[in-house]
Parts: sequence; C-alpha cells; structure tokens
Amino acid sequence: MKRPMSEIELVEGFSNALDNGHIYICIQPQINHATGRMVGAEALMRWSDPELGIQFPGDFVPVLEKHDLIYRADLCVFEQVCNFQREQLDTHANIVPVSVNLSRYDIYHRDYIDQIEFIRRKYNIPVKYLRIEITESSAIGGMELVQSVVDKLHEYGYLVEMDDFGSGYSSLNVLKDLEVDIIKLDMRFMQGEIGGRGGIIISSIVQMAKWLKTIIIAEGVETMEQADYMKSIGCNYIQGYIYSKPVPADEFREMLKTTHHEPLKPAMKMIQEMDAGKFWNPDTLETLIFSNFVGGAAIFTYDREKKALDVLRVNEKYLTELGMNQSESDIIHEDPWWCFGEDAKSKYIACLEQAIDSNEEAVCETWRNITSKCCGDDKVCIRTTMRKIGSTDNHYLIYSMIQNITSEKRRFIEVSESEKKFRMAGEHANIYAWEYEIATKKMRPCFRCMRDLSLPPLIENYPEPVIESGLFPADYADMYREMLHRIDEGSPAEEAVIPLTVGRIPFIVRYSTEFDENGKPVKAYGSATLIVDNDKIEKETEELIKEGQ
Ligand code: C2E
Ligand code: CA
Ligand code: CA
Repeated sequence: MKRPMSEIELVEGFSNALDNGHIYICIQPQINHATGRMVGAEALMRWSDPELGIQFPGDFVPVLEKHDLIYRADLCVFEQVCNFQREQLDTHANIVPVSVNLSRYDIYHRDYIDQIEFIRRKYNIPVKYLRIEITESSAIGGMELVQSVVDKLHEYGYLVEMDDFGSGYSSLNVLKDLEVDIIKLDMRFMQGEIGGRGGIIISSIVQMAKWLKTIIIAEGVETMEQADYMKSIGCNYIQGYIYSKPVPADEFREMLKTTHHEPLKPAMKMIQEMDAGKFWNPDTLETLIFSNFVGGAAIFTYDREKKALDVLRVNEKYLTELGMNQSESDIIHEDPWWCFGEDAKSKYIACLEQAIDSNEEAVCETWRNITSKCCGDDKVCIRTTMRKIGSTDNHYLIYSMIQNITSEKRRFIEVSESEKKFRMAGEHANIYAWEYEIATKKMRPCFRCMRDLSLPPLIENYPEPVIESGLFPADYADMYREMLHRIDEGSPAEEAVIPLTVGRIPFIVRYSTEFDENGKPVKAYGSATLIVDNDKIEKETEELIKEGQ
C-alpha cells in the first residue's frame, strides 16, 4: 500500500531508513535559459519505504525537524552528494556544482558546518563543486547565528544561496544583513500574472539583485512563458519542471553526459557597465524602471573637484514631488546649486561624498528655495537618497530619489512650538489647552491633551471629530457647536461648564479670541480646567484611609 507515513512511523523508522539507504537524493538541474547549458544542480532528499513507497520532503522534513533528526538526514544527503561528485571526478566525467539544503534546525548544531567540512575533505571534493542553500526563515532563530554560519561557510569557500527568497520572512532585511552569493526566487510565491503585480515584484527583485551584484536563480519555473519572461528581465538561470524534475542520481549522471555546462556568472556588473546612455533610450529596461517603478528620481553627474552637479535626467514623478510645476528642461538648465542655501549645500555635498566613498545609499534632508514661473517662490524640504552608479576618475554618476517632506517638517515644527508654549503652563495649572484657528477650523491640542486624551497633534474640521469620538457627551454637542460659532462670529470670550469624557467629569471650558489689526477673529485659545470638588475629595480621602487601616 502506497501512502504517506505517519509521524510515529517516520520517527521510529528513521534510523533504520538511514542505515539501509532508504534515504537518498534526487538531483534537479539548473539551466542557463539563454544558452541551454547547465550551471549547477540541487540535491533533494527522498525517502523510499519498502512498503509505503516514496515519501516527499514536504511531508517528512517537518517531522524530522520537530524531532531534531533533520541534521542527521542532511549530513547523509551531503555525504551522498560528495560521493556522487567523487565518482564524477574519478571517471573524468562532466561535473557541475551541486547545492545542498541546510535546514534552519541544522544551524542550532554548533559543529554542523565543521561536520560537513570534514565530510568534504574525506571525499576530497574541491569546494567549488558544492553549494549550501539556507532559507530566509533561518534568520528567525536570530540574525547573529545565521550570520556566523554564513561567515563560516564563506571562510571554508562555499557559495551560499538564499533559498525561497520572497516567501515572507522580511526578505529585504535578511538580504541586507546576510552576504549571500546567490538568491533563489521561487516563481510559485509570486501570485498573479507575470504581467501584473507579481511581475513588477519579480522584476524589482531581479533589478535589486543586480545592484547587489548577486546571482539570481528562478525556481519553480514550469512554462516557457515564465522562462522567457525571466530572461527578458535579465535573469537567465532557471530551475524547474520546464527543464527537468528532480531525477535519481544515476539518471542525472546520464543527463550530465549529454548536456553542456558552464559556470554561473554574476548578473551584471552594474556599477562598471552602466552608462547613463541607457536611460536615454526609451526601449531599455533601465528607462522602463526609471519612469514607472520608482518614485521621484534623478540621475546626475558630480565633479568632485569642482563640486559641480550636472542633472542628466529627472522622471515625471520627480517633478510632481517637487510640486512647483517645473519642467524637466527647467531643472536640467538651471544651476542645481541655485536653490540651496550655504548650509543645505554643504549638507548635500557631505551626503554625496558619503555615497561615493561607501558605495552605499546615503540620505540627507535639505531645504531648497524654488522659484517657478507659475508658483513664485517657495521653500520645500526634500529628503534625498543617493547612490553611486558609475564613475570615471573624478566624475561620478549618481542616482537619487527624492521625497518632498515639507508638510511633514512644517507640522513637526509647529507642533513642537505650540507644545513648548502650552506644556509648562498646562502641567502647573492642571489645565488642558489648545489653539483653534478660525478660518481653517483646525485645532492643535497641547501635549497633555495628546497624552491624556489621546488626541492627534492636529484636528481638522474641529469640533466634529472630537464630538464623534465621545469626548463631548452628545447632549452637550450642540451647545458646544454654538459656542464655537459665536467665536467664529467674533465673540471675544466664552465660558461654560461641560462634563467631558465618558466619565462625564465637569470642566470649565474657556475661550479667548485673538483678532487681527482689522478686528477680524483669527484664533481662539481654549482651555479646560477641572472643577475641583473639595468636599468630595476630603470624603474620598477619608474613605481611602479607612480602607487602608
Ligand atoms: P526547495 O529547497 O525549495 O526545493 C525545491 C522544490 O520545488 C523541490 O520539491 C522540487 O521538486 C520542487 N520543484 C522544482 N521545480 C519545480 C516546478 O517547476 N514546479 C513545481 N511545482 N515544483 C518544482 P521537493 O523535492 O519536494 O522539496 C520540497 C522542500 O523540502 C524543499 O524545497 C526543501 O525545503 C525541503 N528539502 C528537500 N530536500 C531537503 C534536504 O535534503 N534537506 C532539507 N533540510 N530540506 C530538504
Ligand atoms: Ca532548496
Ligand atoms: Ca526553494
């Protein structure tokens, strides 16, 4: 009877299966779709039970992991791969690097890497014929541990592959911190059509892998359409049913006889090879990404000696982000430093130097004065993220992305100013205070209001959201609206007792209005003071004391 084995059958039968060779490897080739040549292969574990038939890792690997048996199985797989490669070497047959999977539980066995290294030496296999796959979920056990494992593998000379990239566990963070050599991108994790969202995600990942100069292998590729698509976005390496399912070792040996092979090459040495010219050509991938898949972006050159900027291109979103109705040619033709003050300029240059020297992203925030034909002058605050993408002696090609953070900055400044004003006074006098701007119906609460009443720093269309939130009891809502209406109409001061919060605690609410030089009401300063019932407090205190005795 063929069926999947139960947990008990797996655990009890494990040692026996290992000793009798029931656990063995199948191998699946990895092909360069552009040349048809083999670039490597992956060993996948199988368990063949004499009675219950072939078992698949999707069923038994989690059980072995749960019972801390997986490292023994993985060592056995590693040894079989070494054995296979030994035979290829001994018979002078074709040979390609074979990847072996490392379970995230293997890394908890501190000497695991030393054990595989011991086996490799025993079989005397050059390290270039073996690769190790780790999954991004290995990072769940702690970044430091995986990092030390990756470092150790690198020390011994293994290439490390990140398996199942994009399957979920904060992929980008893991990638940033782990120096893997190869990314395996599983097509099956990308939902939807390759023309849609899935396609955009895939092409961005491929693009990013190029930035990082990491090799990328597409896995789970089943159709010619998928393979061609991957090739079109610059990922030629394919592992999937389209070329072959995982096959038993002997069958793979036959496959090696008839298939040409070649080494894996890094996707593209972007930094050296990229020239700005590609961004001019409307048909290149660079232009497609530049115009569609990123936010506000610009490409410019920087002359380090002269500290001169020369803007080559900005995209559509760059112009909208600046928000001053400028055109690309306005920006390209004006002196880029024109809109920077001295401080902002030196801050920006420091950021450029950092991007150039570190070869990494650098970020700065600078205010700029922008003048445009239609909008006049304005100050905007721009967050710029920059990166070096090319260089010739003293000239650097820089890719920058911008974000207009003016309103974010202004709000921050306003809030911290009004907070300063009210905070001290409020804390001392036990009052809540706020500012009400008559023309715009904007309300800015003090720090205590935000803290005690969970109000945001800015409330629009005051007082409606506050009434809705239940801070004002419904039966007082109209009365409060009328009070504000009188202020809007020019009343210099207002006062009322209002029970606030769900606890209906009585407060005296007062307003005094500020007028401009024409006598028009501009702002009203509001406050709420708790009505202290001294008798009640005395009584409650007495009771508390009694309870405490
Ligand atoms: P994985 O490492 O992502 O391996 C790739 C899986 O995708 C394999 O399943 C392979 O047969 C399958 N596959 C390859 N191309 C295609 C395709 O075009 N379409 C579809 N639908 N599937 C494709 P397999 O062999 O069942 O392995 C499943 C998982 O079990 C592996 O995923 C890996 O996580 C784990 N595993 C396999 N062998 C080992 C091992 O020796 N040690 C450890 N720790 N885990 C292993
Ligand atoms: Ca794998
Ligand atoms: Ca995988």
